[in-house]
Amino acid sequence: MRQLTQAFLEVEEKLLSLLEEVRSLRPYIESLEEENIRLKRESCALPQNETERVIANAAQIEGVAHDNLVRLYKEGFHVCHLHFGQPIEAGACLFCAGFLRRE
Ligand SMILES: [Zn+2]
Repeated sequence: MRQLTQAFLEVEEKLLSLLEEVRSLRPYIESLEEENIRLKRESCALPQNETERVIANAAQIEGVAHDNLVRLYKEGFHVCHLHFGQPIEAGACLFCAGFLRRE
């Protein structure tokens, strides 16, 4: 094979594998973007002084095993970032349900 042709084929191959790599990152980036939008929405919905409480809740939730979160929820306590540890009053919490589904 001629040298230039060979060089061209090599570059083409490299570009294709790079493209494949970039494409494989796409779902990951999309999920990050969704998460980002969700977090922004949540933090916008909160008054400034509650943000710290939510962050503290998040840290607490991370330290609790999933089974225990499920049990806590079944016993009638919030396991979501917004109201962690507080009794659920209205029967169900969409945030808790969403959180447990995602885990
Ligand atoms: Zn909740």
